[in-house]
Amino acid sequence: MARAQALAEYLEAHRSQMIAEIEELVRLETPSGEEAALRAAADVVASRWEGLGARVRRHPVPGVGVHLEVTLAPEASDGGAALVLGHLDTVYPVGTLQAWPFRTEGSRAYGPGAYDMKAGLVMMAWAVQALCAMGSAPRRAVRLLVTADEEVGSGSSRALIERAARGAALALVLEPAAPGGAVKTARKGVARYRIEVTGKSAHAGNDVGRGVSAIVALAQLVLAAHGLSRPSDGTTVNVGVVGGGTRPNVVPERAWADVDVRFVTRAEAERVDREMRALAASDGARVEVTGGVDRWPLERTGAVAELYRQAREAAAELGIELAEASVGGASDGNITAELGLPTLDGLGPVGDGAHSAATEYVDLSELPRRTALLACLLERL
Ligand SMILES: [Zn+2]
Repeated sequence: MARAQALAEYLEAHRSQMIAEIEELVRLETPSGEEAALRAAADVVASRWEGLGARVRRHPVPGVGVHLEVTLAPEASDGGAALVLGHLDTVYPVGTLQAWPFRTEGSRAYGPGAYDMKAGLVMMAWAVQALCAMGSAPRRAVRLLVTADEEVGSGSSRALIERAARGAALALVLEPAAPGGAVKTARKGVARYRIEVTGKSAHAGNDVGRGVSAIVALAQLVLAAHGLSRPSDGTTVNVGVVGGGTRPNVVPERAWADVDVRFVTRAEAERVDREMRALAASDGARVEVTGGVDRWPLERTGAVAELYRQAREAAAELGIELAEASVGGASDGNITAELGLPTLDGLGPVGDGAHSAATEYVDLSELPRRTALLACLLERL
């Protein structure tokens, strides 16, 4: 109890430095794909860790930026490492800061990317610094990945995450807490599909009977796809984009739809996948379905529940009543969960407004305690 309090007090005493570091990172606008900006921000993060005595490896990816691999202690001989995941990229284009500059107001720090998830990166460094200041250290070797492409699906960092997950015992994710402060013990998985329909074009006035309308066929398939939803099981289907046809006076030969599917369990992912691929048009049009599962769900397994139980215990020592939440959005935690690593997500800042420049903020009053919680977890897990 005293130890957790001491960590919290140390961090409380350094709160303004933490805020300054968040501001520095927010001022470096880092939308996914802005390679130079992401490299510059990665340099800031890298030198912070080098200052803490960590080994930092840079993995540059042309057109993307740099993924950082930070190793914190020699590999432990017994038990695996703790894998910690964070990302530097944001969803905001360069220039967003002009309209929504970084600012603190009362106990809130506003700024694009502050909550998702630059504050989480700052918290991780301070959690380790606080442990060092107390003469302590993380219990396991720590592998921290700070990636540059999470917001666009982690295409170029996925292999790195998978490699780092090998030999790790658990994964902690620095994504923001759910609104209200809950950690995330379940995340839906995501699948993406494209439905393409090929019919037969014809003159809409003279020859309409000889045509096969791809749009009419697609309209039926859109309803069929939505019919695969099972809200009571947490499975949702959204046909988000459609296109097709050429002119009003031509029976359309082609039409397509892009579909997003979310699910809580692997079994539901497999059911929807099977049924999506079995979609067929009734009136002579040809249907092709491509795509598939992009992220498997982070399911609340027994091992995840155990991580949460330990986190709740540590939080109680800090006076935090730590709730858990199941959310619809995916993160890199879905990848580590798929690999079988017990994964606890949402260990970053408390706040709200992710992906919304006008309202995104970090709750500064919770910042020291939440960072202390992270430190306690590194020490005990
Ligand atoms: Zn994020």
